Amino acid sequence: MEAAEFIRLGGLVAFPTETVYGLGADIFNERAVAKVFAAKGRPADNPLIAHISDKDQIELLAEEFTDAAARLIDAFFPGPLTVVLRKQATVPAVASAGLDTIGIRMPSDFVARKFLAACGTPVVAPSANLSGCPSPTSFRAVFEDLNGRIDCMLRGNDAEIGLESTVIDCSAERAVILRPGAISIEMVRKILPDAEFADPAKLEIARSPGMKYRHYAPRAAVKIVVKGEIVPDAENAGYIGCGIPSQNFRLRAQCKSADDYAARLFEFFRECDRRGIRTIYCESVAPEGIGRALLDRLRRAAGITDA
Ligand code: AMP
Ligand code: MG
Repeated sequence: MEAAEFIRLGGLVAFPTETVYGLGADIFNERAVAKVFAAKGRPADNPLIAHISDKDQIELLAEEFTDAAARLIDAFFPGPLTVVLRKQATVPAVASAGLDTIGIRMPSDFVARKFLAACGTPVVAPSANLSGCPSPTSFRAVFEDLNGRIDCMLRGNDAEIGLESTVIDCSAERAVILRPGAISIEMVRKILPDAEFADPAKLEIARSPGMKYRHYAPRAAVKIVVKGEIVPDAENAGYIGCGIPSQNFRLRAQCKSADDYAARLFEFFRECDRRGIRTIYCESVAPEGIGRALLDRLRRAAGITDA
């Protein structure tokens, strides 16, 4: 695959995955990894996730394999799960933002797998958007943000899941969920019954520095509402949710389920911005399954922090 050639030459390639589009570089090429931060305008203390095509590559990245990690990997790789482990000394500090751990994920998306296999090396890949903007779930979104800033963009379908991977810290005794995603805590607890969410107050400083940044936010103001809530100026606003609102909105996404809502959220944010809509009302969802991840992204987009 030609795109893999760019990776071998130290370039940057955007590629589709089942969660969101990623912006890839060879993890063992420090200059290439540094270019990822520059292209996105990403703060240097926000760690990247290493993407692999084969479980055999884990030993190139992780110093030791904990039992919790082995069980999660067995259950959920390939898929929308990132496992954080103590890193090998050979993994450049720029990739892990100076942490002694590295996040590892094996995407299930067909194009991603073919691309990563052709690269023949683990590929660091944050979301392929400008830092601070909604994550890219369509090729169009990648193009809007990064055209002219990177070497190659692989066009794929819209991301099936639409929210970033679940991140679980497996470097210590007890597995801790740092970021909720499509692999829900209910699913994780079937494998590791004592898995917990990280305490948000501690999360920001020590474990997952990236979570402190403003994320996922469109230019429009995001407001979380309950089903049926009456809002001002609906005719100039956007609305996304599973319910049918009683008002007429300028732009509306009627979602079939929480999964469908998750898959459409970030592209809806972008579409509202393209049309100059100033306020987006997002219907709240039940905090279960993917609903937790969806609520996490909605709260961040709305500027609500737990800590
Ligand atoms: P993104 O690539 O934009 O989806 O962001 C990756 C996110 O995963 C970071 O912002 C962190 O929240 C989390 N993450 C990645 N690597 C680590 C790590 N080694 N330790 C803790 N959290 C991590
Ligand atoms: Mg991101």
